[in-house]
Amino acid sequence: MKVHLERRFTSCPCQLECVVCRNKFEPESIRSYLCNDQGLIQGDCCPNCLSLGSQYILEKMFDQTKKIREKLDSMFLESLAENNVNLPKISQWFSKLLEIFLQESYELQIAKIGFRNKSKFTIFFEQE
Ligand SMILES: [Zn+2]
Repeated sequence: MKVHLERRFTSCPCQLECVVCRNKFEPESIRSYLCNDQGLIQGDCCPNCLSLGSQYILEKMFDQTKKIREKLDSMFLESLAENNVNLPKISQWFSKLLEIFLQESYELQIAKIGFRNKSKFTIFFEQE
């Protein structure tokens, strides 16, 4: 990231929001944009954040990302909590147990057949 300086035009709003600290501030005669490595503007950077240095900006951006992630997590959990929880019926448990038993029996049967009927590939390697 880098900070790009630009002249403040008259069309600029009188209050901007800092992309780093999210605080509102009044822009000065020079507007400072935080840009990503591709040069794309990510938002305005307030004079306070600029004065605190690049390490501060990085840490603050990391904190912002963490807060957004936590908010998304809580929103996701809230959306889950709005729905009813339908527990599986006892018949579904037994059905799943039976399904697993049949799958494991089938896999065991396949393994037994595999031991009895060695493939030519296996025999080739065992001869050496
Ligand atoms: Zn700021």
